[in-house]
Amino acid sequence: MVKEFNYDLVVVGAGPAGSSAAYSAAKLGCKVALVEKEKVVAETVRTSGVTWIDYCDEFGIPKECYNPIRTYKFCSPKNKVEITQETPNAAVLDVRKTYRFLAEQAKENGVDIFLDTTVNDVIKNDGKLSGIRAISMNEELVFHSRIVIDASGFASVIAKSLGIVNQWERFGVGAEYEVDAENVEADSWWLMIGQMYSPAGYAWIFPVSKKRVRIGVGIGKPESDVDPTKRLDEIIADKLGPIKDLGTITNKEFHYGLIPNEGLTRKTVYDNLILVGDSAGMANPLVLEGIRYAIKYGRLAGKVSAESLNSGDTSEESLERYEHVWKKEIEIKINSAHKVQKRWLNLTDDEWDKEIEIISQLTADEFLDFVRADFSISKIIKLATHHPKFAVRQLFNIVRGG
Ligand SMILES: Cc1cc2nc3c(=O)[nH]c(=O)nc-3n(C[C@H](O)[C@H](O)[C@H](O)COP(=O)(O)OP(=O)(O)OC[C@H]3O[C@@H](n4cnc5c(N)ncnc54)[C@H](O)[C@@H]3O)c2cc1C
Repeated sequence: MVKEFNYDLVVVGAGPAGSSAAYSAAKLGCKVALVEKEKVVAETVRTSGVTWIDYCDEFGIPKECYNPIRTYKFCSPKNKVEITQETPNAAVLDVRKTYRFLAEQAKENGVDIFLDTTVNDVIKNDGKLSGIRAISMNEELVFHSRIVIDASGFASVIAKSLGIVNQWERFGVGAEYEVDAENVEADSWWLMIGQMYSPAGYAWIFPVSKKRVRIGVGIGKPESDVDPTKRLDEIIADKLGPIKDLGTITNKEFHYGLIPNEGLTRKTVYDNLILVGDSAGMANPLVLEGIRYAIKYGRLAGKVSAESLNSGDTSEESLERYEHVWKKEIEIKINSAHKVQKRWLNLTDDEWDKEIEIISQLTADEFLDFVRADFSISKIIKLATHHPKFAVRQLFNIVRGG
């Protein structure tokens, strides 16, 4: 027996993008189903959870969901730099607490959450998307809906079922241990750069609390075929760089995941369909962070869906406003960040020793804009032409494309 449901909107995936989309559409009066394959939201953690406190405030994420960071440390094989601020601006999320908070917010606004339910196909009416098929505990479920939001992350299940996208070809693979450590600087993070850490990417230490950190390695594909888990085990066994200062460490949990790194190559609206979050390839390429975009544009996807549903027009033209808004806000930033990423991928260890010296010449605010890829064209031009440090002007000339 197939169980059938009728909704205005079905959202696939209860990650940050999906929960946020479901929440904002339900808040505007839509009947929404949020379908998640795991048994509980964020059962598996696939992210390091670094984000920014101003965004947390904007999203209403409670302070107990994150650990604030105010010192940013970098090391290359022979150099290290440190940038400190009075007030913390970065945050390392308690990923489960945050993602569950977002899902709970959706539920409180009337969203029906279907857990342990794996979406495996789409349904169509007159050739147009009209819902999804899923399996839950060997039972087949069919959800009829006027709009589907694909928030299934890297997998992009709906877009793939429709044959409108191919598997990402450029992506990052990350492996990370959450560990208890003897010596933790709870308000400082480390980014570790150079061949010995990652041949195409970086390694990190992100503190979650006064006694716990996440140590990870991210590697870009297809640039390198190194296995991040193997490299992570090696750098921990060798106690490379700042890892040795952590003292004795005890592994608590292993995290592993994939993140698209192709820039904004995908179209994100079709008749009755929106792609958001990793499914749309929305991530800051400099450090491959996508959580804030997933939440922000998840909410936008839910809002535009609700408006289109209310107007009775769920065509691509009607949903187009969603893509127009998010591209206007981040397309230039992401493209500029890709230019820096391209430069970084080609740096030798010696060049990295010099590059982090340039980064140290940025003020704390400039550094944060830089690492967050929050540079508007006017900011880039100002830094490229007027920054007092020559090397910084050169760096921003690259960002500008000069
Ligand atoms: C190793 C690593 C480290 C990262 N570190 C950071 C970081 O520090 N900061 C940052 O901002 N970003 C980071 N990212 C990126 C960030 O995790 C993503 O950009 C973000 O999770 C995107 O959210 P999303 O909701 O689009 O997708 P996801 O978080 O991947 O959520 C997708 C959801 O869909 C569900 N799903 C998938 N398939 C199906 C299906 N068939 N049926 C039903 N449900 C399904 C999944 O179970 C999941 O819950 C990192 C990524 C990786 C891989």
